[in-house]
Amino acid sequence: MCSLITSVVEQNSSYIGRLAPSPTGYLHLGHARTFYKAAARAHQAKGKLLLRVDDLDRDRCRPEYTEAALEDLAWLGLRWEEPILIQSHRLAIYRQVLETLHRAGLIFPCIHSRRDVQEAAGAPHADDDEPIYPRDFRPPTNSELLPLETVISVNWRFRVPNNELITFQDGLQGEQTAMAGQDFGDFLVWRKDNTPSYQLATVADDIATGVTEVVRGADLIRSTFRQLLLFRALQQNPPAFSHCPLMRDESGQRLAKRHDSLSLSALRAAGVTPEEIIHKFTHTA
Ligand code: GLU
Repeated sequence: MCSLITSVVEQNSSYIGRLAPSPTGYLHLGHARTFYKAAARAHQAKGKLLLRVDDLDRDRCRPEYTEAALEDLAWLGLRWEEPILIQSHRLAIYRQVLETLHRAGLIFPCIHSRRDVQEAAGAPHADDDEPIYPRDFRPPTNSELLPLETVISVNWRFRVPNNELITFQDGLQGEQTAMAGQDFGDFLVWRKDNTPSYQLATVADDIATGVTEVVRGADLIRSTFRQLLLFRALQQNPPAFSHCPLMRDESGQRLAKRHDSLSLSALRAAGVTPEEIIHKFTHTA
């Protein structure tokens, strides 16, 4: 029997956590370890665990990956509250958040192409992070803001404060700091194909669902600084954050959805049991 069942009867705390798989491929061991940790935190706190499907990337998300993710997580013994949240069904909520940011004058339309930004920004930034948006591409602060179109056809970006040190205490990794404007720049909140960015959608959802702790992979630490700015802009207290170390293969490469042999479905097909997988997580660093 798997030990990680968050039973509804046990809930008696205000803790709300969430699992947020992106259905862009099959879940692998690295996802499983992070999601197991998220479920364990909710279980220890006798709180609730929500499940949200991050399916805003129309080109890469596929319904069969959503189905597979839910099946894999349930097979692993994780349980969550119903209903599941599907980001592509929540566009009206994200649009409201965009309008709030627009009314507050905290965003601007960006007419430069990704290529312009890349060329002006020079070398790519840390890991696979987006290039720092050049400051002289920004409209001046006192310029009149274009209205939001009904169907958006330009990229909208959040204006990050110049050189403000942003800090948070990570539940697993200790204190984290980044300098806004230097470690990351003005980031996308809405794309010209009329879809919200990950940063906006995740903050909107974490606010709307009252999430008290976000447990996710360490690849998103840099995103957390951006999201902290959005929580502040929306006058909301941020949740706590715990970023799980990323899992690597024998050659030190970060596990990715292309590591098919380590996908949960392949492991399951090879006869590995959920108990064996969980044992590995709980008995290795
Ligand atoms: N969907 C994201 C991922 O799979 C996680 C987003 C989040 O937890 O905020 O990497």
